[in-house]
Amino acid sequence: MEKRLIKKDALAGIAKKMTEGFLVWAPVKKEDNVIFAPLGKSDEPFFSYLNSKNAPKNVFFPHTETMMKYTRTGQGMAFSSEVKKADKSVLFGVRPCDAHSFVLLDKLFDQEKYKDEYYIAKRQNTTVISLACVTPPYTSCFCTSVDGEPVSSDGADILLTDIGGDYLAEFITPKGEALAKYFGDTKADAQADAKKADIAAKAKEAIKSKIPAHEVKPILDVNFDNPFWNTIHSKCLACGTCTYLCPTCHCFDISDEVKGSDGVRIRSWDSCMFPMFTKETSGHNPRSSQKERWRQRTMHKFKYYVDMFNAISCVGCGRCVMYCPVNIDIRKIVEDISKL
Ligand code: SF4
Ligand code: SF4
Repeated sequence: MEKRLIKKDALAGIAKKMTEGFLVWAPVKKEDNVIFAPLGKSDEPFFSYLNSKNAPKNVFFPHTETMMKYTRTGQGMAFSSEVKKADKSVLFGVRPCDAHSFVLLDKLFDQEKYKDEYYIAKRQNTTVISLACVTPPYTSCFCTSVDGEPVSSDGADILLTDIGGDYLAEFITPKGEALAKYFGDTKADAQADAKKADIAAKAKEAIKSKIPAHEVKPILDVNFDNPFWNTIHSKCLACGTCTYLCPTCHCFDISDEVKGSDGVRIRSWDSCMFPMFTKETSGHNPRSSQKERWRQRTMHKFKYYVDMFNAISCVGCGRCVMYCPVNIDIRKIVEDISKL
């Protein structure tokens, strides 16, 4: 594997240089938040962040997206697909937990049975550059409980690790190798590898929050009707913050907007936390209370995704823990389930 060293203060310049040939998504400061956004000419990328407020999944799966357009004609309807050739893009500086989320989303959107052309077009045209977490994490981070690590290349085409004065750049995939020219020509030596191994071990050790995520699947298999489900939801506001910020949540709604003879079909993020989520045209709702909705959220992440793809659909980013306005903590829910 190709490896190079770059000076730490060169990183922002590399990201900006890439904007000459790519649409570059990078972390930028917006008021009190760090978010991923397309890097404009006057924008300064901000890499000293623990994690962004929004998950970068919107690069491949936007909040709203036009799927097709149609027009009523004298002969019937004329349809045009809106699957577009995606811009050549670079997602620069994502944290390893979020890069891991792309591997999980691929299992759904790019599987043998179903191919989501909208997602796949963007995913295939994007190079993911991960930035390893080497500083003390948020107390809500628990990636090591859900198959992640702070210095992991899972889901990355290039992995950057701060090893002191330099970044070690590792080109993981051919897509990543194709961008090697942006990273200078200083080859990394064995000393750099040793430093990285030491830093990776310490970073892993620094993740103190642990949950028994791998233990709960057999318990969930047989506890659909357990009274435990009455204990989570009472303070939930059904605001959807947890699902909208989650890098692995992927539910969407499809709706048509029609004006005169013209219409567009769009898809938008939905949330299993919303009362309307499974409401049927008859008025019946199989998940009529927040209890059923919270059970669905938990089951989806820790049972159904495991049943379907042999993977837990949570990367331990802690966003839902940090931003839930009433402090519902998925870590405690998993802990409590493990004791049923
Ligand atoms: S469930 Fe919470 S901790 Fe897990 S990936 Fe989603 S937002 Fe992150
Ligand atoms: S963020 Fe909290 S209050 Fe809002 S829907 Fe999720 S669990 Fe409920």
